[in-house]
Amino acid sequence: MPYVISQPCIGEKAAECVIVCPVNCIHDAGDQYVIHPDECIECGSCQTACPVDAVFRDDELPEAWKKYETVNRAFFEQKDK
Ligand code: SF4
Repeated sequence: MPYVISQPCIGEKAAECVIVCPVNCIHDAGDQYVIHPDECIECGSCQTACPVDAVFRDDELPEAWKKYETVNRAFFEQKDK
């Protein structure tokens, strides 16, 4: 899984990421935005645009926020069913 949106998005949802994503793979999951793991082309634009530093590459996700990898993926597993 490439990029992941994590905890700082909750309560913020600035949505700059949604605007800059060239493949429209960032979706509103209610509490936060999430990235479709199979559609992301790993351009990094969302990470640069995020005003609260909520976006990380999966291999750079802080340990305390590892669960957000599952949060992002699970949203689309439910949605795509
Ligand atoms: Fe979209 Fe690029 Fe962010 Fe992936 S890294 S979610 S393609 S803006």
